[in-house]
Amino acid sequence: MSADAQRAEGERRPIWWMQRESGGCSASRQLGYDPAPFAREELPRIMAIERTLSILKPDATERPGATGEILRRFEAAGLRIIALKKIRLSDEIARGFYAVHKARPFYGDLVKFMTSGPVVVSVLEGENAVRAHRDLLGPTNSSEAPKGTIRGDFGTDIERNAAHGSDATATAKIEISYFFGAAEILAPVEAL
Ligand code: GDP
Repeated sequence: MSADAQRAEGERRPIWWMQRESGGCSASRQLGYDPAPFAREELPRIMAIERTLSILKPDATERPGATGEILRRFEAAGLRIIALKKIRLSDEIARGFYAVHKARPFYGDLVKFMTSGPVVVSVLEGENAVRAHRDLLGPTNSSEAPKGTIRGDFGTDIERNAAHGSDATATAKIEISYFFGAAEILAPVEAL
């Protein structure tokens, strides 16, 4: 490889790659800290572009101003809205979406709640979108969720908790395809 080609290749590489190749940044060398395992295992994962499914539940969509405010928070956190629609879930669609909870005592009530009014479903894309989105939502139980989180600010209890977010990239893939066809998603490139 020529010197020019090597330079061009180097410029394309992310910073974690350069740190790995050079044995770490000077600060970490001075501190005697070996960043190699972190750089190799953690940073590529940290920088992953992901997609996740968001549902604003009926308790959120019925509150004036809540839909706009929640979507604003997603965008402010760097999550791009690459698909979006407001729909009313049928009993069958809600049952299918929450089929994993079929055996739980709250399943029937949950389906009733989710079909009680419109929901706003979206696909969010960004760095670590699954984790970033769930961090914005806060814990499942709205009565325990801190103020400043979406569930803390807009939800009521463990069931009426304002919003759903996929819990892993594999789940997100399934959930996104449950609600959106490829032609409805504004993105030409398949995410990781
Ligand atoms: P999530 O991933 O944080 O949404 O939580 P889960 O997947 O465990 O639960 C799915 C949804 O079911 C929650 O978002 C709540 O709306 C509801 N839910 C969870 N646990 C309970 C419960 O113990 N009682 C009731 N009534 N609803 C629950």
